[in-house]
Amino acid sequence: MSKTDSQRQFHVVIVGASIAGLTLAHCLSSTSIEFTVLEARSDPFSDGAGLAILPNGARILDQLGLYQDVLDQGECMVSHSTWLEDGRLLRRVDARQIRSLRRTNYPLIIISRRALLGILYTRLQRRSCVSFDKRVCRIVSSAGEVTVYSADGSSVSGDLVVGADGVYSTVRAQMWHHINNVYNASTGSHRLSEVPLTDSFAGVFGTSQSIPGLERGSIHRTYGHGWSTIIMKGEDSKVFWFIAIARAGTGQSMPHRSSDRACLARVVEPLLEKHVTCNVKFGEIFHRTESCILVPLEESFQTRWSWGRFVGIGDAMTPNLAEGANCAIESAASLANYLAAFARGPTSLSAQERLDLTLKTWEDSRKRRMKSLFIVSQCAVRIEATTSWVLRRLQTFLGLLHVTGIGLLTDITSRTARVDYLPLPRRRDAERVPRNKEESGWNIQLATLPLTATVALMFYVLHAVGM
Ligand SMILES: Cc1cc2nc3c(=O)[nH]c(=O)nc-3n(C[C@H](O)[C@H](O)[C@H](O)COP(=O)(O)OP(=O)(O)OC[C@H]3O[C@@H](n4cnc5c(N)ncnc54)[C@H](O)[C@@H]3O)c2cc1C
Repeated sequence: MSKTDSQRQFHVVIVGASIAGLTLAHCLSSTSIEFTVLEARSDPFSDGAGLAILPNGARILDQLGLYQDVLDQGECMVSHSTWLEDGRLLRRVDARQIRSLRRTNYPLIIISRRALLGILYTRLQRRSCVSFDKRVCRIVSSAGEVTVYSADGSSVSGDLVVGADGVYSTVRAQMWHHINNVYNASTGSHRLSEVPLTDSFAGVFGTSQSIPGLERGSIHRTYGHGWSTIIMKGEDSKVFWFIAIARAGTGQSMPHRSSDRACLARVVEPLLEKHVTCNVKFGEIFHRTESCILVPLEESFQTRWSWGRFVGIGDAMTPNLAEGANCAIESAASLANYLAAFARGPTSLSAQERLDLTLKTWEDSRKRRMKSLFIVSQCAVRIEATTSWVLRRLQTFLGLLHVTGIGLLTDITSRTARVDYLPLPRRRDAERVPRNKEESGWNIQLATLPLTATVALMFYVLHAVGM
C-alpha cells in the first residue's frame, strides 16, 4: 500500500540537507514514497573539515551507488597513531592489522565534509525535491497531515516530518511543543520533557594546507591535559584537524560558535607548542589553516525520537562525538526501511495507528546500538582530554587497546543498519574471517568493558572524594 487513508502518495518532508537528510532522500528515491527536503543553507555545500567514513556508513553508501565517488574523492587510512602531548608515541596501528576492515573490505576513508555533501547532493536523482534557503520555523500537525512552515512564509504539507536538522533541531523542539500541548490539555501537567543538551566540550574543526612530516592516509590522535586532537591527512594532502577542549578549566571564556580567525587563534594559543606527532607541533598545522570553525560539542541522548507525525534522525536525536556521520547514515537507512515497509503493508489498522506502531518499532530497534555508541563516545572524549591523574592512567590503557577499539567501532554486525530493500554489493577480496569466531572474540572484549569502566569509575570517585 503506497497510499495514505486519503489515497494520496505517502509524502515525507525532510528538514535538513546534510548527511542524515540527504542519505534518507537517497534511500527513499528507490521507493514509491514522495519527499521534499527543506534546507536553511543557501547552497548545497557546507562548513566543516574531515570525516572518517567507517564500514557501517560505507556499506550503505555502496548500496546507494555512492561509494566509488567517496573512494575517488577520499583517502584510505593507512595508519592510526596515538601520541601523548610531549611527543611520546603510545601506539601505532597499521590499517592492515584491523581485522574488521580486512573482513568487510571497506577501508576507513578520510574525506572532507564538503566533498561528502557534494556527492550526496549531486548524485541525488530527485534533486528538484531539495529546496535551499528554507529555514523551517513552525510545524503544525493535524489528524490527517503535517504542515511545515519556513521563515520566508512558504509551507509544505505531508504525512510525516523528519528532523534531520542537527543538534539544535527545530523539528525536535516543535515535536515537544506539540507533546506538551497535548499532555497539558489532557492532564494539566508537564510529565514528559526533552533531554537538555550539555556542552562540556568545545570543538574546533579545521582544514590546513599540506605539511611535511605527515603521511597521506595517516590519522594522529593526541591525548592532552583538558584537550585532545585528531589530525588526518586526506585527499590532495589536505590536513583535517579537530580539537576537543574541555570547557571547565580552560580559564578563558570561549564563544559558543565562531569562525573568526583571531578569536580561534586565542582559543588554540595554549596548544600551539603541543605535539601532534613526535616531530610536528600543533602550531605548524594551525599556521597553515585555510578554514576553521568552533562549535559546541553538544551531548544528549533523547529518550523519544518520534511522536505522531514527527520523527528525528542523526544529530537531532543522538549527537555522537566519534561516529556522527556514520550514525547519521545508519539512522537514515534504518528509518527508510521502516517507512518503505509502512508504505507497502496492507493492514486493517488506520494509517495513523500504523504510523505510530512503525515509528515506535523503528525507535526500539535502534536505541540499544545508538546508546552503546553514545556512551563509548562520551567516555572516550572524557578520557582522552582528561585533567584527572586517575583517568590519565586510563589513557595509556586506552591507547594500548586501540586495535581492539577501532576494530569494535568499525565492525559490521547483525545490529548494523543497511538498506533492507536494496541488494548488498559484493566486496571483492574481503577476507574470510569466520563470523562466529570473530563475534565470540568481540564478545569477550566487550564483556571486559563494563569491568574496566567500573574500576575506572571507582578510582575516579575515590580520587574525587579525596581518598
Ligand atoms: C558546522 C559543522 C561542521 C562540522 N564539521 C565536522 C567535521 O569536520 N568532522 C566531523 O567528523 N564532524 C563534523 N561535524 C559533525 C558532523 O557533520 C555531524 O555529526 C553529522 O554530519 C551528523 O549529520 P546530521 O545530518 O544529523 O546533522 P548536521 O550535519 O548538523 O546537519 C543539519 C542540517 O540541517 C540544517 N538545518 C538546521 N536547522 C534547520 C532549519 N530550521 N530548517 C532547515 N534546515 C535546517 C543545517 O543547515 C544542516 O545542513 C560538523 C557539524 C557542523 C554543524
